[in-house]
Amino acid sequence: MSDTAPTPGGPSLPQRRLLRTEIPGPLSRELMARKQAAVASGVATVLPVFARRAGGGIVEDVDGNAFIDFGSGIAVTGVGNSAEAVVRRAGAQLERFTHTCVMITPYDGYVEVCEELARLTPGDHPKKSLLLNSGAEAVENAVKIARSHTGRQAVVAFDHGYHGRTNLTMALTAKNMPYKEGFGPFAPEVYRVPMAYPYRWPTGPERCAEEAAAQVTDLIEKQVGAHNTAAIVVEPVLGEGGFIVPARGFLPRIAEFAREHGIVLVADEIQSGFCRTGQWFACEDEGIVPDLITTAKGIAGGLPLAAVTGRAEIMDAVHAGGLGGTYGGNPVACAAALGAIETMRELDLAARARRIEETMRPRLAELAAKHPLIGDVRGRGAMLAAELVRPGTKDPDPAATAAIAAACHAAGLIVLTCGTYGNVLRFLPPLVIGEDLLTEGLDILENALAGL
Ligand SMILES: *Cc1c(COP(=O)(O)O)cnc(C)c1O
Repeated sequence: MSDTAPTPGGPSLPQRRLLRTEIPGPLSRELMARKQAAVASGVATVLPVFARRAGGGIVEDVDGNAFIDFGSGIAVTGVGNSAEAVVRRAGAQLERFTHTCVMITPYDGYVEVCEELARLTPGDHPKKSLLLNSGAEAVENAVKIARSHTGRQAVVAFDHGYHGRTNLTMALTAKNMPYKEGFGPFAPEVYRVPMAYPYRWPTGPERCAEEAAAQVTDLIEKQVGAHNTAAIVVEPVLGEGGFIVPARGFLPRIAEFAREHGIVLVADEIQSGFCRTGQWFACEDEGIVPDLITTAKGIAGGLPLAAVTGRAEIMDAVHAGGLGGTYGGNPVACAAALGAIETMRELDLAARARRIEETMRPRLAELAAKHPLIGDVRGRGAMLAAELVRPGTKDPDPAATAAIAAACHAAGLIVLTCGTYGNVLRFLPPLVIGEDLLTEGLDILENALAGL
């Protein structure tokens, strides 16, 4: 294979790690200089390398270095990059037409994606959907719909929650730096309540679900007024906030409280959805049936698409013309989503996510036993993380986290960090990654920890 005439990426890309130059290589350095001159510096990058092609569990850079991918472009390419069915269906749609605007002359793909969402999301009640371009837009619209349906204004979000970077979703997002710093004022009528974070719950993980739920319901009743609350927005497994799995029993209590008070329960499954946690949606794990569910990231194999799906009577509360947007549910993105969903079904990617956990979790537990730097290993399916602390304490160690991530990058493994304290290494491999690459990636992580 020559460097000058790259073969296509996607499923045909060789599945092996390869370091041919220093990282970053000369071509990436050249592009980085151009980026610095032309791209707003607020757009930061995790790795200083530029992608040339990607597929399966590999991202190849412009210098020919091939990285093992434990990031999936932030949980987007669960089906792999340029997955066969995504390329086939999006390609066919590109030739039919690229855009008409669903608000002018609609098209079948939009309807078909909404039909799939009704089938795949939890609950067998009548459901409807709205398609959008980004996760933040989906969360914004879920709030609009909940307010319209309830005639109430208050929205409740959680400590460590992440919901996007638009004005309303910044207000819903917990972490200031880098998401909110300097960008206020934020949208009003947003109230923050505690998350059942087992590792950091003051009285210990056993009491976490019960005590956190009691605090949440008390705060809503006493400080907001349940009758003023339009929506509770929650990630069933938290993403940017640190891959926190709420203590078992917490989410069912919140769901019950929402139901008792006519509050719309919005499950933000933008990161946790579409097979990532070993089920179609993470809220299935505790049998939660949300009123509305927001999806994006994994939905369309890398094309921009997002959705709000929910109870038909709630979705239909909004007047005609009250929801929409020029590009929402773009036909090419819809075709890609149908290809991605076809792939998830045919390859049973939920089962693959569970298998990834079976490989990764014991290795991570082993590493935690060996390195007191690892305070907690958590997550579900192919959404796993290690929280790093100063040995013998629970003090977050963001510097060690950054150092380990950097060592992994230098060795050809893409890993991402997250967490309110910046001290969580998160692992989000494509669900189609091969076992060999998965194991090799874990070896690299082990070496990085040993070398610290
Ligand atoms: C990424 C993310 C969002 C925002 O999605 P964008 O497409 O980046 O706007 C919202 N909620 C969660 C849980 C996310 O992980």
